[in-house]
Amino acid sequence: MILRVEHIGIAIKEMDSANKLFESLLGISNYKMEEVVSENVKTSFFKTGDTKIELLEATSDNSPISKFIEKKGQGIHHIAFETDNIVAEMQRLKDLGFELLSDQPKKGADNKLICFLHPKSTNGVLVELCQEIK
Ligand code: ZN
Repeated sequence: MILRVEHIGIAIKEMDSANKLFESLLGISNYKMEEVVSENVKTSFFKTGDTKIELLEATSDNSPISKFIEKKGQGIHHIAFETDNIVAEMQRLKDLGFELLSDQPKKGADNKLICFLHPKSTNGVLVELCQEIK
């Protein structure tokens, strides 16, 4: 079951200036920075009530974030929905014809199992499913 919007991912070119910008914008500091080596990204998280903002900076040229910025520029990259059972949710969406970008959940940032849906099956929106690792 989908529970809520867990976070919104934003692709940014340069972390220091983006962190400062979002600190001013939101009036709070980020609570965590984390590198996800397998995805070639560095992340920074801000808590905004029940939802988070995740800034994403590429750590190499073959990062999905560098490709995204090359094509579309900086901006909203994905919407992440929290689920209470990511494996069941992946199967449910697969059965409905959505295209998943991985067969198994992967380890993401912020202590989560994650899986992405291909934007061509979701009206152009990159959707992430996530579930907290307990
Ligand atoms: Zn995310």
